[in-house]
Amino acid sequence: MGRVFEAPDGRTYRPSMFITLTLPGYGRIVAGAGTPRDADGYDYRRAALDALHFPRLLDRWFQNLRRCAGYKVQYFGAVEGQRRLAPHFHVAVRGAIPRSVIKEVTRATYHQLWWPAFDTPVFVEELPVWDGRDYLDPVTEQPLQTWDAALDELSADDDARPAHVLRFGSQLDVQGLLAGSSDADRSVRYLTKYLTKAVGETYSGDSNAAYEAHIDRLHAEVRWLPCSPDCANWLRFGVQPRTVGPGLEPGRCPSKAHDREHLGVGGRRVLVSRGWSGKTLADHRVDRAAVVRQALEEAGIEVDSARRMAADVVASDGDARFLWSAVVSHGGTSSSILMETVIQRRRWREQYEVAKTMTGADPPVDGRSATAQSTSLRAVG
Ligand SMILES: [Zn+2]
Repeated sequence: MGRVFEAPDGRTYRPSMFITLTLPGYGRIVAGAGTPRDADGYDYRRAALDALHFPRLLDRWFQNLRRCAGYKVQYFGAVEGQRRLAPHFHVAVRGAIPRSVIKEVTRATYHQLWWPAFDTPVFVEELPVWDGRDYLDPVTEQPLQTWDAALDELSADDDARPAHVLRFGSQLDVQGLLAGSSDADRSVRYLTKYLTKAVGETYSGDSNAAYEAHIDRLHAEVRWLPCSPDCANWLRFGVQPRTVGPGLEPGRCPSKAHDREHLGVGGRRVLVSRGWSGKTLADHRVDRAAVVRQALEEAGIEVDSARRMAADVVASDGDARFLWSAVVSHGGTSSSILMETVIQRRRWREQYEVAKTMTGADPPVDGRSATAQSTSLRAVG
């Protein structure tokens, strides 16, 4: 997909791209430490809102990029935490789009959050009370404004402004990728690495009092700001969430975006376009089984048939391999049968690990072969 480039020797290349998008600064940062030089002057509220709504900005960016590129750009990307506690986004994009276009799109992209205002907390000590239908003002016992009424009011107000506007920072990194090159391998590893890693793990690591304080201050914002129209934190600002029921309490929204470990990066960590691989989940499952089998065979380890219990399995002479009968006694209890199965599973897993080491399919550090990495990308994508 995308532009084809021809080398002097006549070979053609169809490169892809690896792009990193960042959020703006919220105050000056101590280089290397990730902590603000002046914590009181640091815009924690903006940092929190940007983190909470980052995926919406990314959606908007892809919309704009597709419009400018003129085709359905395909991508696979992951949101990751930077040391300064702001999320950024690494994405592999199929095809080559001129750098200047990507730059323009990034500069022009913004997302407006047209939500009711949530600048000033209204209910902090005494919380709204559920009466079976609405949340009531604890003092006047009048129902709080509903979500729909708040939105109606917003659209009727000509002077209304969005509750928040997100934009990217000026840092933008665009690299060309050629399939099979070491750069491509490294980028794929970069992307897949974060699929199994919680954002909190990225944020922790070597820490100190200043860094913990930085996390605490951002968490203090992230905890109380609304994450979605259904967030319980709306009650703090005098508006009923879009969906109401008993038991909603500000500061106790179940979205993990509010947690100290996640700092605004909640649900969507991986953004992938439809048609990235054109495969169904079933295809991926078959792929993964094939990858495991191949690794075992390459290492010369005999593969137990994964379908060994299937009724249509036949032995080499063509006869049915199994004769089925009801299990009356296994010479053991059901727990010993289960235990046997567990041990067998574990043996398979060990064989697979050994096979991978023997064939070099999964080197942990030097990364000479990207087979395992790129297949895991396919498997997830
Ligand atoms: Zn929430």
